Amino acid sequence: MPDPRPQLKDQSIPALRTRFAGSGVAPWRAEQVARWLYARGVEDPAAWTDLPQELRERLADEWQIRALEWDALERSADGTAKGRLRAADGALVEAVLIPEGERTTLCVSTQVGCPLACSFCATGALGFTRNLTLAEIVDQVCRMKEALASGQRITNVVFMGMGEPLLNLPRVIEAVRLLLHPKAFALGPRKVTVSTAGVVPRLGTLLRAVPVNLAVSLHAANDALRDVLVPINRRFPLDLLLETLRAAPELGPRRPVFFEWTLIAGVNDAPADAIELARRIRGIPSKVNLIPMNAHADSSYRPPSPEACSRFAGELMRHGVIVTLRRPRGADIDAACGQLAARRSA
Ligand code: SAH
Repeated sequence: MPDPRPQLKDQSIPALRTRFAGSGVAPWRAEQVARWLYARGVEDPAAWTDLPQELRERLADEWQIRALEWDALERSADGTAKGRLRAADGALVEAVLIPEGERTTLCVSTQVGCPLACSFCATGALGFTRNLTLAEIVDQVCRMKEALASGQRITNVVFMGMGEPLLNLPRVIEAVRLLLHPKAFALGPRKVTVSTAGVVPRLGTLLRAVPVNLAVSLHAANDALRDVLVPINRRFPLDLLLETLRAAPELGPRRPVFFEWTLIAGVNDAPADAIELARRIRGIPSKVNLIPMNAHADSSYRPPSPEACSRFAGELMRHGVIVTLRRPRGADIDAACGQLAARRSA
């Protein structure tokens, strides 16, 4: 029998305040609850010692506290860890921890599968099942904290896992608010990045709602190629996407756009592609993140040679673009960009 009680982590802090106020509990108790759940990571209300005994019992009776349970944890030779987590309906969700020097970045999912069907992405090949709830998004952070080494903490969170964040926007915004809230996860706004394939009409809502970094998955600098790689381009073509970014008052030198470009051999890795990209994004405060294609079973695309990747990066730099070439992480456990497909291992 499924547990009929609502999930406590589906409540934003303001929503919990309102509920408390309506049932005779002091609203500021909501911040105390958030501190236990998210800052301290204690999920048993009986242990929430600064709350009155009666309220602790009521919370334990009326709410479910955990939205995701462990299904599997895989560790890569390079330190990357992929968690496969199970929702109450059996849906599998993947989240990836990526340690890099002082930083530990957590990559979270926003949907089960994805409806956008980008031709090079393993998640897209799954099709779309459903949106994740707020509780399921933040519980990825709670679960993955359990996989940290002692002394290690999550310093950055990127919404770059399975799914398209802007197609689950209200929940993504509430999850970001919990990541930033000083009583919850207390991350700085520039430590959080939301990535989109370009759901143009929703960009403004995100940018106004939360002061986090925006990443845009570009991969092509003309509509003919982008229509194929990122099919949502047929609805929201490049000109519209780039002009919207150019005109957004929230974006600027202090809040640049991070363009993502998956480098695919023979598809978008020629010097001419780099020159076209530099030309199209000129004047948009931005950086370009190059990600060599991570191969997977659902795609025949391959990464370019390291030399071709460096040549592409060099060409962009020569044209005034700020570039980073990302090393693939966690590819040996299918945890790299575009490999998340929540397959059960045999
Ligand atoms: N839907 C959002 C969030 C996912 S981010 C978006 O598209 O931005 C995941 C990033 O990995 C995207 O930039 C995506 O284009 C990239 N990616 C997908 N498949 C990949 C692959 N096989 N190799 C490298 N990068 C890939």
